[in-house]
Amino acid sequence: MEDVLIIGGGPCGLAAAISCKRAGLDPLIIEKGSLVHSIYRYPTYMVFHSTPDLLEIGGIPFATANEKPTRQEALNYYRLVASRENLRVHVYETVTEAKRTEDGFQVATTDRFAKTHLYQAKKLIIATGYFDNPNRLNVPGEDLPKVSSFYKEAHPYAGLKVAIVGGNNSAVDAAMELERAGAQVTVICRRTELSDKVKAWTRPVFESLVKKGRIQMFFGATVASIEERAIHVNTAEGLVTLANDHVFALIGYRPDRTFLHSLGVHTDEETGVPQHDPETMETNVPGLYIAGVIAAGHHANAIFIENGRFHGEGIARHIVSQGNV
Ligand code: FAD
Repeated sequence: MEDVLIIGGGPCGLAAAISCKRAGLDPLIIEKGSLVHSIYRYPTYMVFHSTPDLLEIGGIPFATANEKPTRQEALNYYRLVASRENLRVHVYETVTEAKRTEDGFQVATTDRFAKTHLYQAKKLIIATGYFDNPNRLNVPGEDLPKVSSFYKEAHPYAGLKVAIVGGNNSAVDAAMELERAGAQVTVICRRTELSDKVKAWTRPVFESLVKKGRIQMFFGATVASIEERAIHVNTAEGLVTLANDHVFALIGYRPDRTFLHSLGVHTDEETGVPQHDPETMETNVPGLYIAGVIAAGHHANAIFIENGRFHGEGIARHIVSQGNV
């Protein structure tokens, strides 16, 4: 029987494990990919908008050469933290089912050799993030192989006609990289202006590329449908058809709440927030906690590393105060 089992080895799952360890518990993390797998999957040359101190966990300093850390530096940092703190992590093992038992929880997993495992735990922390569950466009043609919700690198798209749907950092960063690599880039943004979260230092560069006609921009526009060689866009001037080779739908992510619901956690219909005590992060199911982005509602960006990294502290305090581990 485990004291505490944590599903998800992202920054917030790792932070929760450190807090539990420091409170005298012996947590086990089950992670379906590599350590901080979401960050591993981010664009190769991505630079965080947060300064490194705001991404630190367990009070371990995160020093970087420049003001904002790169993805590569963050991967190095979280690896180092997990190793320094001697965290128990089972990587490449996917949790397939979680259920309540008389004395806690039972968690079923499948490892990378297709072998199944069963764990019993007194307390369960769900820290599965949101990155596996991209928002959908809900338009015809969305499931064509040329449409993707994840952007990695620009090189494969040199010389191609690429449409990017979105108006936040992911869309803006991808558009600029793709333009530099020689793609013909069109950005389709539902709002009438870019998100106010777009990094202050990238916004003017992007706007200048649009002004110079090097990136084609449609504001207040939505995708009507996608075909193999074209994309149809609803604009203020009517339906526009563009020749197209590839579409990136970079319109955000939302947490998958399958485990929470199957375990009996209620969700507020209006806000989409799973029922929980914000001090202890315990849900309406005793002994079941949430950490990181999974705790966000419809506005998934309300929780990120900067604030989600502290969830574990309240969880550890509460678990220890219960006295049954
Ligand atoms: P995640 O990091 O998503 O970790 C969840 C983990 O759970 C994953 O590793 C996943 O593989 C694992 N998992 C999921 N399901 C299962 C399962 N069934 N079994 C086992 N494991 C499972 N935030 C900031 O604070 N500052 C920034 O500058 C910043 N920049 C960003 C840039 C980009 C491009 C993106 C997409 C996000 C950025 N964010 C930033 C947001 C931040 O990365 C997330 O908020 C953060 O990763 C959330 O951490 P988490 O631990 O809750 O979830």
